[in-house]
Amino acid sequence: MSKIKKEEHKARERLITGKETDEDQILNISLRPTKINEFIGQKELVENLLISVEAAKKRKEPADHILFSGPPGLGKTTLAHIIAHEMGTKITATSGPAIERAGDLIGILTNLEEGDILFIDEIHRMSKVVEEFLYPAMENFQIDFIIDKGPYAKTIKFNLKAFTLIGATTRSGLLTAPMRGRFGIFHHLDFYEPEDLLNIIIRSAALLAVNITESAAMEIARRSRGTPRIANRLLRRVRDYAQVKANGDIEGCIADKALNSQGIDSVGLNAVDRKVLGAIIDYYDGGPVGIESLSASLNEEPDTIVDVVEPFLLKIGYLKRTQRGRQVTACAYKHMDKKPGIKVKKV
Ligand code: ADP
Repeated sequence: MSKIKKEEHKARERLITGKETDEDQILNISLRPTKINEFIGQKELVENLLISVEAAKKRKEPADHILFSGPPGLGKTTLAHIIAHEMGTKITATSGPAIERAGDLIGILTNLEEGDILFIDEIHRMSKVVEEFLYPAMENFQIDFIIDKGPYAKTIKFNLKAFTLIGATTRSGLLTAPMRGRFGIFHHLDFYEPEDLLNIIIRSAALLAVNITESAAMEIARRSRGTPRIANRLLRRVRDYAQVKANGDIEGCIADKALNSQGIDSVGLNAVDRKVLGAIIDYYDGGPVGIESLSASLNEEPDTIVDVVEPFLLKIGYLKRTQRGRQVTACAYKHMDKKPGIKVKKV
């Protein structure tokens, strides 16, 4: 890929990905809710979580280990921080790929105080050795050190303070059964309804001190792929557009034009989503097609398709997952303005 192409690719990824980018980190410092009453949507989950937190507080014990699963950008990290706030405890955050060796965990675990929270993002990407090291820590708040080698090797047990592990994963299916079994509380976060995204956008606009009409906020909400992180990111792009092309206030038609200019279509699909649907229709006659062949024809990482693109297309019924691979639906043909049976030869 040429340098310019790479930059273009990066810019597009920044806009559409549900994954966190550096820009988000700056933006989200102020936009991320810190208290439970600021967290919008996912009502049932929040209610159940509040019961677990309150019960643990009454028992004066740390909460059970919690696992959050769901696509990127739906609020898993935010909830972990909110739980720490509600429990009045400290949170230490790390991620599966960042813990390379079991030794990396020793320092983190031994520094935890009674009731502290350890948050591990992308917990499914932890190595097997690290995972096994974590089991006794989760179960009995103990870790086993092995000193010396060969016949002189000795295992020393070290007691930890009782803590709560909160794991987040975009692919709970990749977690091993023993790991999953060690979590007492399991919550799946689903995509948000436009009404909830509307409230998130109105809250974020107020924090960013931009004027936005309800119809403009709804336009952004409908086109945010059910994802708060994307809603916040699109709001910021629309704000830029309103500042340059109008007087800075965001109205419905400004939001519509700004989103069109970013390649976000009427249902919130972006260039990559359309590229995926287009490839299945044009090159594979609507599917089914395996993820490896699809990602090879698109020059995209299989993980990007599985974690970021596919969940929303499945949710809105544009894509079906069959045993033989991915298949597009009649709705997808209609949206892409294509007809089944007309195959384009790949050049
Ligand atoms: P995840 O960990 O699932 O990838 P995050 O917790 O990092 O997602 O959420 C991404 C951003 O989206 C947050 O920083 C916050 O600004 C916003 N956000 C997520 N969920 C909500 C919510 N329920 N209410 C308001 N804002 C939210």
